[in-house]
Amino acid sequence: MGISQSQKREEAIMNRMAAKFLYAASQSLRGKPVLTHLKSLEQTEKYSPGALRELQWRRLKSLLAFCYENIPYYKNLFDTSGITVEKIRDFDDFKSLPILTKDQVRNNLDDLLRRNSSRRIYFSHTSGSTGKPVRIGKDHDCTAVLWAASYRGRRWHGLDIGEPGAIVRGLPIDRKQSRKQLTEDFFSNQIRLDAVNINRESAKSFYYKCLRFKPRYIYGFPSGINQFAEILDSLGLDGRLLKLKRIITTGELLHTFQKENIESFFETRVINEYGSHEFGVCAFECPKGKLHISAETIYVEINQTERLGHDSSHGEALITGLVNHAMPLVRYSIGDVLTLSDEKCSCGRGLPLMNLVEGRTVGFAKSSSGEHVNGWAFGYLLAEIFKKGGDLSQCKFIQSAEDLMRIKVVRGPCYNDFVSRALEEGVRRTLGPSTRIELEFVDRIPPEPSGKFRFFVSEISERDRQRR
Ligand SMILES: [Zn+2]
Repeated sequence: MGISQSQKREEAIMNRMAAKFLYAASQSLRGKPVLTHLKSLEQTEKYSPGALRELQWRRLKSLLAFCYENIPYYKNLFDTSGITVEKIRDFDDFKSLPILTKDQVRNNLDDLLRRNSSRRIYFSHTSGSTGKPVRIGKDHDCTAVLWAASYRGRRWHGLDIGEPGAIVRGLPIDRKQSRKQLTEDFFSNQIRLDAVNINRESAKSFYYKCLRFKPRYIYGFPSGINQFAEILDSLGLDGRLLKLKRIITTGELLHTFQKENIESFFETRVINEYGSHEFGVCAFECPKGKLHISAETIYVEINQTERLGHDSSHGEALITGLVNHAMPLVRYSIGDVLTLSDEKCSCGRGLPLMNLVEGRTVGFAKSSSGEHVNGWAFGYLLAEIFKKGGDLSQCKFIQSAEDLMRIKVVRGPCYNDFVSRALEEGVRRTLGPSTRIELEFVDRIPPEPSGKFRFFVSEISERDRQRR
């Protein structure tokens, strides 16, 4: 009893210390601190749906005026299309604005950045889930709001700022970036398992690390967490001993079988987050199990011009970021298919609801030694190549056989041999040196029948499924 009390005290002190650290870090972000934004979000989430729509409209309208004054891309777009900010009087008028594609973002990066500002812009790179690499700029203030939106969702489940966490996601391929990530983890009171390279040894060692570190939650890709649970189970280890309060999944569609498997192994609830590199937390599951859109930070609509079926609330999502003034994205086609709902949630929050229907099912590849490798490995590879200047418009990895990877590539105007070599080396590093690679240059890569693009497809697991 005495020991457990002293342990609890130690934990509490550690949490407070970590919270302090985070608070200090948030204060150092220029602009408004995270905690101020958090306080504000915890007020606005209680607004009625109507009041939230009004708030969104005010932010949208002021964003458009800002874009015209400060962002060359939009000034040019509005001028050449005869659009004026005054003419956009409601959400219906807003739909007349052109859609922004990932290709347009890539080809107009400089013109999409804020002009004449002393605020520093920070860039990050991603392949996203569509195999179309993009580079996104944000300033401190935007980052502070996005952090706050993430903390808000966690606090719905009793997870406070600074609580220790275990992250099951990838690590950047570049060593320097990877070290930077691990340092950030340290200051964020987190430990990390590289979800892209989980095997029996790494899973076991991370499990014991968790027993010592006592994370309150696991956060990461559902595929990675599920694989972690399956390996631990096969080793006869008990997930309940980690005493996790919650497991938060992100980055991929959470399948029911994964949710059930993870919940039963760790004996705790799985919470779903829909987040993106571009906009941070886009939606978070509430205690009643509904996915609430972060309406203060994004405006979500369904692309009505390429609708899937007759339902106007279901289809490809277009997202407008309401808080990023460093690189505003207006009606951005993010590549996910979702359903918006008018339903009111019994949790009392006025934030609108959505369902992520199709998006980001990544799956596993098989290495030459027979190991299952998370398909995100190829997403990280794309982001790395793009970051080093490789000009790729889109890429799709198709594992046709255990020793054969076909890569479809839509080349950018400055594509060169470096990219081809980096793709081949990256795949062989991941699956084994004897992997055969067929590189195919194409003009476009069609989406899956669902309307969703996927950067990795395994024809082996497709065949396995059909056999079962
Ligand atoms: Zn709710």
